[in-house]
Amino acid sequence: MKIVTWNINGIRTFKNGIKKSLDSFDADIICVQETKVNRDLLDEKTAIVDGYNSYFSFSRGRSGYSGVATYCKDTGTPFLAEEGLTGLLTSHGEAIGCYGDKAAFSNEELLALDNEGRAVITQHQFIGIDRPEKLTVINVYCPRADPDKPERKQYKLQFYRLLQSRAEAILSTGSHVIILGDVNTSHRPIDHCDPDDVDNFEDNPGRKWLNQFLFGTAENGNAEDEFADISQKSASEGKFVDSFRHFHPNRSNAFTCWSTLTGARQTNYGTRIDYIFSNRSLVETAFIGVDIMPEVEGSDHCPVWAQLSCTLLPSPKYPPLCTHHMPEFTGRQQKLSRFLVKVSEKQNISKESEERLPGSQDAGEIRENLNPLVHGENVAKKRPTDREAETIAHKAKRSKLTKTESKQKGSLLAFFKPKQTPMNMSPKQAEYSDRGRGAESSGCQITKPGPTDETDFNATYHSGVQKETHLSLVTGAKIENQYEVEKESMPVDKSKDCKKWPSSGFWKSVLHGPPQPPLCKSHNEPCVLRTVKKAGPNLGRQFFVCARPQGHASNPQARCNFFAWVEKGK
Ligand code: ZN
Repeated sequence: MKIVTWNINGIRTFKNGIKKSLDSFDADIICVQETKVNRDLLDEKTAIVDGYNSYFSFSRGRSGYSGVATYCKDTGTPFLAEEGLTGLLTSHGEAIGCYGDKAAFSNEELLALDNEGRAVITQHQFIGIDRPEKLTVINVYCPRADPDKPERKQYKLQFYRLLQSRAEAILSTGSHVIILGDVNTSHRPIDHCDPDDVDNFEDNPGRKWLNQFLFGTAENGNAEDEFADISQKSASEGKFVDSFRHFHPNRSNAFTCWSTLTGARQTNYGTRIDYIFSNRSLVETAFIGVDIMPEVEGSDHCPVWAQLSCTLLPSPKYPPLCTHHMPEFTGRQQKLSRFLVKVSEKQNISKESEERLPGSQDAGEIRENLNPLVHGENVAKKRPTDREAETIAHKAKRSKLTKTESKQKGSLLAFFKPKQTPMNMSPKQAEYSDRGRGAESSGCQITKPGPTDETDFNATYHSGVQKETHLSLVTGAKIENQYEVEKESMPVDKSKDCKKWPSSGFWKSVLHGPPQPPLCKSHNEPCVLRTVKKAGPNLGRQFFVCARPQGHASNPQARCNFFAWVEKGK
């Protein structure tokens, strides 16, 4: 049995074919988070996938926000499925039960915790040694704590406590329990690209919660501190195990989430916040392997998989929560004539619904974990990953393009784009060392066409719901200049193919005024132009910074601390 978790950052990540994407994992259970699909936006191609049955939780409040879904192969159809952690969203007859001690929560709090579409629970059976055993799978998208909103810190911790209460209650009935998803907290220093840069790393309430929730976390420290700290870390008696660390106790730079805003995936400047937790006995008896899949692009997170030795027993019928039972999809699969006859109409419908699909929303769901350089303040409010979702769609096309074909708009922004790696690339091929961005290859990337060019880091700043988008820029030195900025469009003369930089004549003739970018000091490469968007004395001022992606201060391949104002009147 194989299980996968992936924060997809918008269902559009699957727009090239959800079945193809799901099949590529060759997994029995695929749990996705941040679908950003509301109940009324759920379309048939997302809900009904041949060979699978699926279970959704939707945000009841904000549109295009949060949302999780669990896709099970028909050979692993669950016996029960339930939306939410509290039981309050569950109608009689479909409940898994075991709600734990809810005395610590008011009814309003419980409703609020399930109101954002953050959990789906499925209960399966597998063939045990002498009898079928139960396996409960809790797919969660844990809240992020927005530093500007104290109430959200509280909400996040309440969600953790509720999750723990429910998971332990189910476990106590004899079911095995796997909790997987985007937990939104990196646990140990080894799970963070720059733990020394985070104030009071160990004091983070989310980390403290993980410490007691997980078993035996003492061994999971940073390899370098292993001896220094060991006496301070007592083994926890938590009931669950971080299965990745169980198999890879000392693997560093194993991250699952990177800021797209700063291009940090290229330098693997990320965090590990996506996990597969399991009760101890299951990890010890059934888990064969666990790993992250940093080679899979399309979201700001990568998937994580776990392989188990057990074989699922499918339920003969779909639980009531299954999308097959939703009135609008009931029987749809059988209506083949619909597909055979009205092809053009169907295509139009698909296109329309595709356009309606939410892509990106809220933004910095992960900034606490992801922007260690700017933790606390002035961090990006939005993340532009709806466009990133499109990269997967354009990837195939792009790879076929020759230099001469690609004379459309290009941009220095292409420097922020990760190298495109096909879904089926082996982990070895996708070694981080390959992700380094040489000037030559980046120059070529500039020629790639399509919306991913400017839009990746540009249009997304302006798009739809993201009116408040700001990019907080911190130079390598990270202290003296923190501005919320907006990246400028930086067209490049693509007719010159892989020739990297526009001439000054180009700038003057086409852009009527934009100054020629200076070269940054460390890399001697043309800078990118940005504009201060944050209200204040510098609002609207432009400046240049190193064009490279954000990375650790010690990484010479990453953004240097070059900074220069554009002087007025020039
Ligand atoms: Zn530089």
